[in-house]
Amino acid sequence: MENKKGVKNGGGIRSWFLIAMIALVVLSFVRTGPGGGDSVEMTTVEFTSLLDSGRIIPPVVRVIDRDGGSTWLAGEFVAVDDSADGDDGGKKGGKAKYRVPLVPGENAKLMDDLRSRGAGVRVEERRSPISPFIVQTILYGGMLFFVFWLMSRKVGGDGMFGFGKSRAKVLDTREDKRNVTFADVAGIDEAKEEVQEIVEFLKKPDAFRRLGGRIPKGVLLVGPPGTGKTLLAKAIAGEAQVPFFAISGSDFEEMFVGVGASRMRDMFAEAKKRSPCIVFIDEIDSIGQKRTGAGALGGSHAYEQTLNTMLVEMDGFDSNEGVIVIAATNRPDTLDAALLRPGRFDRQVIVELPTLKGREDILALHGKKIKFAPDADLKRVARGTPGFSGADLANLLNEAALLATRYNLEAVDMKTLEEARDKVLWGRERKSAGYSRNDREKTAWHEAGHALLQLLVENADPLHKVTIIPRGRALGATMSLPEKDILGRTKSYFLDEMTVCCGGRVAEKMFTGDISTGAAQDIAQVSQIAKDMVCKYAMSGDFGFQAFAEPNRFSTSDLPPAFSEETARRIDAEITSLVSGAYARAEALLEEHKDKLAALAAMLIEKETMDGREVEELLGLGRKEEA
Ligand code: ADP
Ligand code: ZN
Repeated sequence: MENKKGVKNGGGIRSWFLIAMIALVVLSFVRTGPGGGDSVEMTTVEFTSLLDSGRIIPPVVRVIDRDGGSTWLAGEFVAVDDSADGDDGGKKGGKAKYRVPLVPGENAKLMDDLRSRGAGVRVEERRSPISPFIVQTILYGGMLFFVFWLMSRKVGGDGMFGFGKSRAKVLDTREDKRNVTFADVAGIDEAKEEVQEIVEFLKKPDAFRRLGGRIPKGVLLVGPPGTGKTLLAKAIAGEAQVPFFAISGSDFEEMFVGVGASRMRDMFAEAKKRSPCIVFIDEIDSIGQKRTGAGALGGSHAYEQTLNTMLVEMDGFDSNEGVIVIAATNRPDTLDAALLRPGRFDRQVIVELPTLKGREDILALHGKKIKFAPDADLKRVARGTPGFSGADLANLLNEAALLATRYNLEAVDMKTLEEARDKVLWGRERKSAGYSRNDREKTAWHEAGHALLQLLVENADPLHKVTIIPRGRALGATMSLPEKDILGRTKSYFLDEMTVCCGGRVAEKMFTGDISTGAAQDIAQVSQIAKDMVCKYAMSGDFGFQAFAEPNRFSTSDLPPAFSEETARRIDAEITSLVSGAYARAEALLEEHKDKLAALAAMLIEKETMDGREVEELLGLGRKEEA
């Protein structure tokens, strides 16, 4: 194992170690800290009020993190001489030093708060010397060295000591022969369109600016794994012919405190030097998770630091500097809200699992390099692979080619393709256990229930589209389209709408004999409509022309007059009767048209997405209303 890389790495470690040692030793002599005698100690509340009145100078807030575990904010402020405060250590009317001890758990919140106050406040993290004692320093250094050594053995080659100081992988698209462009991305046209603007900007920043375009600093690509987020980011860089820096949030998982942050800083420094460019952060959720303050488990502090550093870097440059940060995640709901603030990742692009058409395109694209037998029908493969991501499809074709080689075939035929599909599907189902055949059938019935009722009832909006392609956390969806601009809704509309909502659960129950959580959204919606009808619109028979505050809400301000307990009971009863009426009606209608329901569900399993017209044709149900 004595390749060149190994040797180079060894050198890298040694110089690293040396630098670290020297730095530690020097730092341990120059012991700085906010503890110095003449600074004014204040609380965070006092500090923020000073900040608000513009008395903190310079507008840079240092966070000093000392070894003892205590953290301080420190800097200078303008001491005013108008009151008795003057004697608390500051020089009157002039500058004085302040220090604010921080409570460990509340640190992150305060930092956010400071940043959101904007006004040029920059937060810098400073670690002051780790220990004043050289002995300890050497011990620490030794440990550091040991860990580095371990990690370099573990990660090897390019992982830890790959690129310059930052160790991010950089791809110079101008030099790279295998330049990725939009032509290599298929089946996610909407996402492609949405990022087009970024390419324009990177290509001609000046022209873009002259025309008054506003470019986002950060773009968040959201979508399930393997849908081509990395590919898309690379293609943006490729199209614009700019360098592409890549780093993954999960790389930080094995980092210890401080290293992640400094690595982040180095990468941004490098990126700024080479702007315009793209910085791609994969799996950002692993560093950008919601900070809970109670995250006392080891490592959470390190993430927080890494995340903070990234935010500081992003806040620190202007969107005109030409560094565009693209981050990818499949769990946007776990992200810390600080990430999504304006000026950070305020642009989100959804990258969904490909539709049937999308899968055809992806298969065609990746199939270009493969020799197929005449009976190989990629469109049929596309139909048989709902829920597959782009990566799954690429994998399928690759698998098929391998199998064909093993069977000594001249070309990849249909049978091999199907075998490959099953193999990928099996592996995938085992991995995610997400979307089984059973789920698919159940979803098809559920959505068919909604869709059929949408057509059967008189007053609902026309059916637009029904799909069993999972998106977000929903397994499927039925969409209706209001035909005209609706100014007011009628009572009959609400009644029908409630019936349609119930259809999912009813159909599901007819099919499986059981009920599931899949209808949670529907249930919430039905309840809301019923509540509004009774309490807001005076649409129930029992009450006169009056509104009620929503039951079981205790706020008394700005609401219509309170009502008696007796009335509350009547409201509850009224809501219940509306809901159960809708449910019973859905049951009756679907029972009556069970054959249509079954036919629609079967067709959905095959086609997975149908538009309103297709459904009407299949069921022989005409459009309810003209004009
Ligand atoms: P993600 O970053 O969303 O997890 P990747 O971009 O890493 O997905 O995709 C992995 C591979 O799968 C890509 O390199 C490409 O070969 C293939 N792939 C995924 N999505 C697409 C797509 N939309 N078009 C073409 N190829 C795709
Ligand atoms: Zn539903």
